[in-house]
Parts: sequence; structure tokens; C-alpha cells
Amino acid sequence: MLSIYTSYNCSKCSKEFVLLSDDVESMKGYLVCPFCSSQRITKQKITDSLKECMGHRKYKKENGVTKQK
Ligand SMILES: [Zn+2]
Repeated sequence: MLSIYTSYNCSKCSKEFVLLSDDVESMKGYLVCPFCSSQRITKQKITDSLKECMGHRKYKKENGVTKQK
């Protein structure tokens, strides 16, 4: 099974974050914002998620933390 990234947007602090679908399943629906612990988060579209993922990967590289497989 492939791991797919899903992008979420917090409606409380307006921050975006990306989670692996495997991680989401392990949380069993109890998703909270990693920034403010709010449960008011909105799932983004897959196309947006993909674009967001590429942005995050670039960001990680710039900070010397590359987790590409
Ligand atoms: Zn938040």
C-alpha cells in the first residue's frame, strides 16, 4: 500500500500541514492541528496536497532535513 500525503488546513489558526494517510489512519479520526491542537481542520484537495507536498519537500531540503526515499 502506497503512502499518500494529505494536506490539511486549520480553521482556527489558518495554518496548513501535511500528514501521511497512514498516520491519519493510526489516529483513528482524532486529528488535531499540530500548531494549536484545534480539531477544526479541513481536508484539502488531492491536487492541492500534491503541490503542498512538493513545497514542503523543498522547504525540508533547504533546512538540511531530507526524508526522500
Ligand atoms: Zn491550528
